[in-house]
Amino acid sequence: MEPSSHAPKGGGRVLSAIQQKQIMRACDNRCECCRQQYPRYILEIHTIGGGIIANPQGSEINERHVVVMCAQCWYATKNLPESNAMLRSIVRERPPEIRARIQRILAKKSAPYMPETEFDLAELFADAYDNNGMDLFLNGM
Ligand SMILES: [Zn+2]
Repeated sequence: MEPSSHAPKGGGRVLSAIQQKQIMRACDNRCECCRQQYPRYILEIHTIGGGIIANPQGSEINERHVVVMCAQCWYATKNLPESNAMLRSIVRERPPEIRARIQRILAKKSAPYMPETEFDLAELFADAYDNNGMDLFLNGM
């Protein structure tokens, strides 16, 4: 029996918060299940086969292991006996361009905070949104 530990700090491949955000953006901030667009705090990235976004074995997480879902779809899916099969079929039907984008994100060792060419105001705004910092924009005079 092993002491319960948190996600490995060094060795394993763990999706950083930034990578998670990039993956959500690669999916157009859309739930891959119901296809609705949501603010990012509603969306979650789930790994298929495991429950957590971490890979203690240190092996590659690839695009086929991750799926972007809204909280509602995840809640409806997670307890189904065939949930893994459902998630896999979602991933199988993922459009090739999104597939390629996610692969690129996962291939990066550690993403720098500022994406080279994609930095824009919408990104800043989305970050504030993610951090529940909207009141800074709304009330911050
Ligand atoms: Zn959904």
